[in-house]
Amino acid sequence: MLLKNILFGGGSASVFSAPLRQNTIKTLIKTLSHSDSLSHLKGVGPKVLERLNKLGLNCIQDVLFYLPYRYEDRTQIVPIGALRQGQSALFEGTIDYTNIAFTKKGRHRRMLLLHLSDGTGSIILRFFYFNKQQQQALVAGVKLRCFGDVRFGAASLEIVHPEYSQLNQSKVTPVEEVLTPVYHTTEGVSQLLLRRLSEQCLQLLNSETLLPDYLSTKLFKQKEYYSLEDALHYVHRPPVGANISQLAEGRHGSQVRLIFEELLAQHLSLQILRLNNQKNMAEKLKSENHLLYKFIQSLPFELTRAQHRVNQSILKDLESGIPMMRLVQGDVGSGKTVVAALACLKAVESNMQAAIMAPTEILAEQHYANFRNWFEPLGLSVVWLSGQVKGKKRAQVLQRIKNDDAQIIVGTHALFQEEVEYNRLALAITDEQHRFGVQQRMALAKKAVTSKNRIKKQADRPALAHQLIMTATPIPRSLAMTAYADLDYSVIDELPPGRKPVTTVVIPEQRRDEILSRIEKACAQGKQAYWVCTLVEESESLQCQAAEDTAQKLKQLLVDIKVGLIHGRLKSVEKESLMAAFKAGDIQLLVATTVIEVGVDVPNASLMIIENAERLGLSQLHQLRGRVGRGKESSHCVLMFKSPLSDHAKERLAIMRKTNSGFEIARKDLQLRGPGEVLGTRQTGLVQLKIADIVRDEYLLDDVKLAARQMLEESPEEVQALINRWVGSAQQYVKVG
Ligand code: ADP
Ligand code: MG
Repeated sequence: MLLKNILFGGGSASVFSAPLRQNTIKTLIKTLSHSDSLSHLKGVGPKVLERLNKLGLNCIQDVLFYLPYRYEDRTQIVPIGALRQGQSALFEGTIDYTNIAFTKKGRHRRMLLLHLSDGTGSIILRFFYFNKQQQQALVAGVKLRCFGDVRFGAASLEIVHPEYSQLNQSKVTPVEEVLTPVYHTTEGVSQLLLRRLSEQCLQLLNSETLLPDYLSTKLFKQKEYYSLEDALHYVHRPPVGANISQLAEGRHGSQVRLIFEELLAQHLSLQILRLNNQKNMAEKLKSENHLLYKFIQSLPFELTRAQHRVNQSILKDLESGIPMMRLVQGDVGSGKTVVAALACLKAVESNMQAAIMAPTEILAEQHYANFRNWFEPLGLSVVWLSGQVKGKKRAQVLQRIKNDDAQIIVGTHALFQEEVEYNRLALAITDEQHRFGVQQRMALAKKAVTSKNRIKKQADRPALAHQLIMTATPIPRSLAMTAYADLDYSVIDELPPGRKPVTTVVIPEQRRDEILSRIEKACAQGKQAYWVCTLVEESESLQCQAAEDTAQKLKQLLVDIKVGLIHGRLKSVEKESLMAAFKAGDIQLLVATTVIEVGVDVPNASLMIIENAERLGLSQLHQLRGRVGRGKESSHCVLMFKSPLSDHAKERLAIMRKTNSGFEIARKDLQLRGPGEVLGTRQTGLVQLKIADIVRDEYLLDDVKLAARQMLEESPEEVQALINRWVGSAQQYVKVG
């Protein structure tokens, strides 16, 4: 019944799929299982096989789980008179006449126009690309069946480059019996090929032994979900009358069944990663915390309750002997650095080393400055390592890290390079983790040296450093628990007292003068300001050039104000002295590229201007704005924009004006851009999902967690198979040891 589909190929030629012969299928059924190679299928030669493998399609199961991302309705022929703008539809008509026209611009582009009618109405088919044969075949009187997106042309309804096929006057051509699935294609793997393959695999699915169903837990049985076979049949070939918009929203029962299964596989894969990590050896940090409490006492402020709570969780982890893998989320300005410092003290007090790594030199340098301020009075040694530390100096630092001398090591990506050998690294802190890949943070953690390995020189188990991972993208808890299911998770959900929310205004760049006088007024009152230049230019040197130009202009316009300029191209020492000058108040207005996005902390700065704010994403805007609002003064942020604004840009700026909450902003960002973009698939264990969407499907997550626990208990032998089905080999990348 499913075999009679007429499938149109891409482009404008007509393609009909040859129905599979029943006897071929019967022989397939007898011999194939879900793990068999696709070379058994009809139409798969060595070349095609290679291309399919590249797409990640290796066996029959892979094809069954390569799901359509949308559907087209080619089950009914719509009368031309009933076609509506914006509709994708199947219709038939006879060519009344044809003509050649030219595009308005330049007049050299030829178009072939077919005027088609069916007695209920008429429509124009417009072709920019066509050949002689087409022109000769498509003449008045020819009957066509077409499919495409209908739109309003200059005078009437029209379709640009529809799929079409010529109808044989004497024979009835059947329409499709199911909705037409649309799969993601790549070069050499056409829609038609994917439909033919899925067709064959769905036929195979009717045999009982082909595909094991792993969802047999109690919880799942209670839910009355679709069976796996029914779900796959429905999703690949929804029947006539299926609700396309419900399918588009991922709400149909067949989809929910598969979404649930995918989320479960995803969750389990991260759980397994976590279990694997726990098999590694980590130093048990057993100090008495004297130094730690002394340090807390010496701080000019009280820790917030949230900081205390998170610190307690970290101390407990560090004392356990199992590698800590803790993610600390906290909005910008919530005070993550102090929490990191406390963890470092625990390591040092236990006679071990701690390393803290930040994604930019500027941020890492600030940590270095802070840590020296905090730790040197306590008699601890803090060292600095970045790519810019070179030659003799570098050799010296590396030596200090390797022998007993350096206790706390602060730096950038340099910290996990091959050449860096630690004497007794027990704690690896990654700040602003979204800027690092999982690999990179694991590379640092794998540099651990426990006291046991140091004595025995070799260990029974690989050593792993305790990991503290800090991030300022505060996503909702249930999402975090899914995206970061391999990590423990704490939130600093409280800002230090006395913070005043930043008032944000959105101003078109034409009103630049107003902004300049605002800066003059603020500086006259002893306040300081940032001017952030945002350029989308690919090249960093162009960005820096633009910032230089802006700084020049501002110097000319604001003669009484001391203007400084900072960007990524400067040498470390230059950046360091600029930041110091700004902190000391010797610079009043700091012009910067987005290098100041993360971490920069100068409490007296209370005004921020962001140029071309419409170009930036929400999380970047939030990070930037987080540089002000850190002191006692009430702070302001001016988002300057260039018209016209896109709808999305309008929405982003409106959100920024409305709220200061990182949680609210992250939620909106997830909605606008999707979790893959916001969290970065590279940074989390989150792989590219096939059908689930952790924001849309958040409502399933509690059940998924429960089912995962049940499955690990009731059918652990099936866990890996389920992971392979959905996550495949993508999971391998963070294995340790
Ligand atoms: P983030 O979480 O964005 O990394 P930081 O660690 O840079 O935040 O802290 C922001 C500012 O708040 C710093 O100046 C820091 O010294 C200060 N701070 C941290 N904790 C507290 C606290 N409990 N009370 C007052 N100020 C604090
Ligand atoms: Mg920070």
